[in-house]
Amino acid sequence: MSTTKTDVVIIGGGVMGASIALELSRHGRKVVVIDKGGAAGAGSTSASSAIIRFTYSNFNTILMAWENAQHWFNWNQFVGIEDPDGMAKYIQTGYLVFLTEGYDGLRQRELWDEFGIPYEVLSPEEVKKRWPAFETGKFYPPKAIEDPAFADDPYDQLSALFDPLSGFMDDPMLAAHNLAHAAKHHGAEFLFHKEVTEIIRDGDVVSGVVLKTGERFEAPIVINAAGPHAAAINRMAGVYDEMKVHHRPLRQEVFSPPAPKGFRLEDNAPVVADLDLGQYFRPHMGDLLNVGTTEPACDPLHFLDDADNWNDSVSVEFFERVMLRLARRLPDFGIPHKLLGIGALYDVTDDWIPLYDKSSLPGFFMACGTSGNQFKNAPLVGKFMRTLIEAQEQGIDHDITPVEVMGEFTGMPINLSAFSRLRTQADTAGNVMG
Ligand SMILES: Cc1cc2nc3c(=O)[nH]c(=O)nc-3n(C[C@H](O)[C@H](O)[C@H](O)COP(=O)(O)OP(=O)(O)OC[C@H]3O[C@@H](n4cnc5c(N)ncnc54)[C@H](O)[C@@H]3O)c2cc1C
Repeated sequence: MSTTKTDVVIIGGGVMGASIALELSRHGRKVVVIDKGGAAGAGSTSASSAIIRFTYSNFNTILMAWENAQHWFNWNQFVGIEDPDGMAKYIQTGYLVFLTEGYDGLRQRELWDEFGIPYEVLSPEEVKKRWPAFETGKFYPPKAIEDPAFADDPYDQLSALFDPLSGFMDDPMLAAHNLAHAAKHHGAEFLFHKEVTEIIRDGDVVSGVVLKTGERFEAPIVINAAGPHAAAINRMAGVYDEMKVHHRPLRQEVFSPPAPKGFRLEDNAPVVADLDLGQYFRPHMGDLLNVGTTEPACDPLHFLDDADNWNDSVSVEFFERVMLRLARRLPDFGIPHKLLGIGALYDVTDDWIPLYDKSSLPGFFMACGTSGNQFKNAPLVGKFMRTLIEAQEQGIDHDITPVEVMGEFTGMPINLSAFSRLRTQADTAGNVMG
């Protein structure tokens, strides 16, 4: 069987692997990306709601989202190479988060002030004035439809935090394709329909990977960007057990029903985080909505042992639950008669914060645990991984002396220890909000 030597092997050609490939190939490294799927971004990236927002829970996570947003705002410039298949586009809608139990937005506002992120606090009347399609009543806590209290009238009114600059990327898979195309321009190679089945070592350091076909790729650096399969890859490398934060695949369903009048893109409808009812939604092209959930306590979580063995269709019960909840917030929403949506997988960590880190196996790095909220941070993940690799090459142990990446826009440093596999504490919403 053939053996290929290269500088870096990246396992996974989703938005993360493609972004890392672009950054490393731009900086002169010879990169091979290996993906068992058929195209860049065809894995969980293709199912992404691709929302770009800045509402995280702490300094590093909000700063990271804000710095990354600048690259989505100027996507063509960030990618640097025009993709003949078209470029993904940023759709600016603004982002509205209802203020309810457990979410007062105060910490966000403090940090948004510090970073210069514009926002407004809107009274229920102001929300209704701008978007009459909303019911601004308070229903908290989110409930299952079997709960007799599900149909209760609202008992209070909700204010909201609105930032005008958030939005979404129109096509997340195309964004990954754009990154891969640019990385190829800089010399990276992408191999599809090839599955990594073994991580190899030379003594105490990583030395490459072996594929199902028996082919070997030898490299002093191997990066795990395998999305929902990343925990299996970390186990393969023998580094999973040392981690203090673990991660595993979580099955999700997202829906795409028609948007009611007053809540389409042409109506200037915003992206909405509605923790009051346990949902998020946004307008989508074609007069559709994109609807997902925020893991409210009443919804069971479906963690999987095997990211290759799951059902990718939506279930009737969950569809009904999510659609009826949506109708509480958008009273003119007409519940569709057929199931419109898909099943998909997140790679969720214990605290819903990602893992951008080295490991105890020198040369083996990870960009995973993206917890349903890291599409927006893909542009800078390449730089994070390059910084971690260069630190290791300079003999700096990031576990002991954490490395930082300077935010080019704010001039403030993002401390990568926030994404360490060894962290024991993190300020986090504990759900997809991160
Ligand atoms: C339904 C849904 C909604 C989301 N909404 C948002 C959002 O609104 N905003 C946001 O910021 N984020 C969101 N996310 C999260 C974001 O989309 C993901 O974090 C991101 O796309 C993950 O990219 P990835 O490259 O890590 O994984 P993937 O895109 O899954 O790529 C991993 C790749 O690894 C390959 N692979 C796996 N195992 C192997 C192996 N053994 N050998 C070779 N290749 C392998 C797979 O084939 C796959 O292509 C959402 C995610 C989902 C699923």
